[in-house]
Amino acid sequence: GATIGILGGGQLGRMLAVAASRLGLKTHVFEPGANPPAGQVADRLTMAGYDDAEALRTFAEAVDVVTYEFENIPTSALDVIEAIRPIRPGREALRVSQDRLSEKDYLSELGLTTAPYADITDLASLEAALAAFGTPAILKTRRFGYDGKGQVRITDAAQAGDALGELQGAPAVLEGFVDFSAEISIIGARGLDGAVACFDPGENIHREGILRETTVPAAIPASLRTDAVLLAAKILGALDYVGVMGVELFVTPKGLVVNEIAPRVHNSGHWTQNGCAVDQFEQHIRAVAGWPLGDGQRHSNVVMENLIGDDMDRVPELAKRSGAALHLYGKAETRAGRKMGHVNLVTPLS
Ligand code: ATP
Ligand code: MG
Ligand code: MG
Repeated sequence: GATIGILGGGQLGRMLAVAASRLGLKTHVFEPGANPPAGQVADRLTMAGYDDAEALRTFAEAVDVVTYEFENIPTSALDVIEAIRPIRPGREALRVSQDRLSEKDYLSELGLTTAPYADITDLASLEAALAAFGTPAILKTRRFGYDGKGQVRITDAAQAGDALGELQGAPAVLEGFVDFSAEISIIGARGLDGAVACFDPGENIHREGILRETTVPAAIPASLRTDAVLLAAKILGALDYVGVMGVELFVTPKGLVVNEIAPRVHNSGHWTQNGCAVDQFEQHIRAVAGWPLGDGQRHSNVVMENLIGDDMDRVPELAKRSGAALHLYGKAETRAGRKMGHVNLVTPLS
């Protein structure tokens, strides 16, 4: 069988490797950090830095196709790999999603609605954007942010200087605050043949910028469900995308507003592991391996709860609960704010 190369050895890489294994495929994980969760389940692990061109070349030659579990792979590493093997999803998806400014520009040009946003280069541009959008507003670093890191909420224009200081000169965008009634996300997939399939949208609850819970079905009208599918399909088609993508959306009285896209499997899609015959991880592996997409029809209602830090203390109780499917990532150390696992609380549709 084919071998799938996976850049990144975290929990997403781990669950991709498990899905590939179930399809009889081999996996080879590339990860700079020690003790990666994916290393415990992959067929092979290369521990090397993204600046190690020789290691990247050897890795690429040992696999048939390369995919990834995170979007911040350095461009130089992608160049080395792409000269040897296909990268799926492709470079355009990475270019667009690595930078919040290019992401918002791209989505706006597609005709989708985003929060009002502005490129922030100095105090003057921040003050001008605050005057235009009002407060509250959110200053975000353009690159490398996740779980709400690299973000400052500004509630008063007088805080502009302090907010810039907190980001320590990193390139940033200001976003106007979206007054949403709910946050949902849609996990879409596009195959090598151009076929598109979407999972049912889930409703997300964040605390301190971190996803805590996803519930399917989302409590939204059918029309918004359709809007979410069409919007995801539009992005997937425009990018000539191959693989699974997560699209985070705000629900507002004027319709759906796109928050951000992730060119990979997504935390808010973990419910699919116990809610569908084919989950997001298998769907992604199918797509990047050139297989037909699988059946992502939802057969159960699911509440997915992330187990973060001390939430791990709940595992003994959850292990006994009926309808609870545990997914633990095998991380050696529990730390505050660290995603250690998740549980899917499943109620089959009758
Ligand atoms: P992720 O881990 O999902 O990649 P992130 O660090 O990229 O997170 P965002 O998704 O940009 O962060 O923001 C985190 C959360 O903060 C959002 O899910 C939402 O609850 C809130 N938020 C972000 N931007 C806005 C906005 N413009 N208006 C209102 N709320 C927002
Ligand atoms: Mg993000
Ligand atoms: Mg987000």
